[in-house]
Formats: sequence, structure tokens, C-alpha cells
Amino acid sequence: MRVVLFGPPGSGKGTQASLLKEKYGLVHIATGDILREAVSNKTEVGLKAKSYMDRGELVPDDVVIAIVKDKLQSIGEVGFILDGFPRTIAQAEALDKVLVELGKPLDAVVNLQVDEEELVRRLSGRRVCPSCGEPYHVDSKPPKIDEVCDKCGAALLHREDDKPEAIRNRLRVYREQTEPVLGYYASKSILKNIDAVGDIEQVASRIANAVGSDKF
Ligand code: AMP
Repeated sequence: MRVVLFGPPGSGKGTQASLLKEKYGLVHIATGDILREAVSNKTEVGLKAKSYMDRGELVPDDVVIAIVKDKLQSIGEVGFILDGFPRTIAQAEALDKVLVELGKPLDAVVNLQVDEEELVRRLSGRRVCPSCGEPYHVDSKPPKIDEVCDKCGAALLHREDDKPEAIRNRLRVYREQTEPVLGYYASKSILKNIDAVGDIEQVASRIANAVGSDKF
């Protein structure tokens, strides 16, 4: 199974991708995670990407496309979930080109739909453990001790791009640059729209139904 998880920031792409990965043994390719790791390791890519990411802007296409290309070329025959890529028409076109070269067309693009008010609520309350990666939310999944990870005791992080001004910017960037990619996939008849409000398992089963769980 080769699938793109699409949707605005805060729509639950990362959460659903982790579930699909566990359930079906797919490789999870999350450009946001790869870029954050590059930033924390201060690699050349990380140094280039950091200021864009902190402001909630998109990292230039050539940087992100090179990352995904490398990854797709290295994973062999196993299926994959792309999470947070493509985010522009240029990225979608570049992805098509690589997948044609590899003879691995996409099976589905799953669009997770959540209204904007709920997105702002989800993103602004989000916290993450910088040490073990465990995600939290101040309302729906608070840690037992304020701002401390239940699993490893590290101080939780409020991502720079989950702060109000960057959130507004990310949603604007999504509407202007990323949403048009939906039209690109609709015209190829592989787009599945999913109501992504509800509990995590509920949304996961809507995805499996829409894609056809036998295909995973
Ligand atoms: P995410 O964790 O997917 O919300 O990504 C966090 C940030 O990484 C985004 O706000 C962008 O700055 C950058 N980023 C992630 N994926 C891409 C992409 N496909 N194209 C450009 N920038 C990206």
C-alpha cells in the first residue's frame, strides 16, 4: 500500500500515520519529523530549514523533494505512508515523477478534514516530549505532572510553530499553497475525503474503509 496522508496542520496526520504503520507494517515518511531531526542535529539541511519552520512557512521545495526522493529510493519494496508531503503542486509533480521511475504509483491520497476552529484548539494545546517523542495535549491528553513527560520525566516542549502567530501563518500557508494540491489528486481519481473529527480509532477505521483495508 502506498498512501499520502493529507490535511491541514493539526488534522491528525502524524497520529493516524503511526497507527497505520503499526497495523500494516508500512514505512512512515514524515517530512516535518525528518526536518526537525535535521534542525536538532544542526545539519546543513537543518540550518537551511530552521527559520522557515519557526515562522510556520514552507521549507523550499528543492530541499524537501531531495529528502523524500532519497527516502523512497532507499526503502525497497515495502509500502509507505507519506505524512506532510506533498505540500505544493511542484512537490506533487516531483513525487509523481519519482514514483513513475520506481514503478510504484500511489494507491490513495487520504484527506483528513477538520474545521479551522478545532485545528487552532488542537495545535495551541499541543505539547511534545523532546526526549522520547510522546505527544500530549493540555485538554485531551494532559501529563500527570504539569509540563513533565509521564514516560521519561523530561520537560515538555511547546513547539515554536505551535504558538499563536505561527499557527495562523501555517493555516494561511495551508490554504494558499497546499490546499490546491487536492485538485491535482481529485483529477487523478485517487482522492478520499475523510471526516477526521472523532476519536482516534474511529477516524482510523474510516480511513481503512475508504481505502479498502484489504489493500494495506
Ligand atoms: P509538520 O510537522 O508536518 O507540521 O511540519 C512542520 C514544518 O516543517 C512545516 O511548517 C514546514 O515548515 C516544514 N515542512 C514539513 N513538510 C514540508 C513540506 N512537504 N514542504 C515544505 N515544508 C515542510
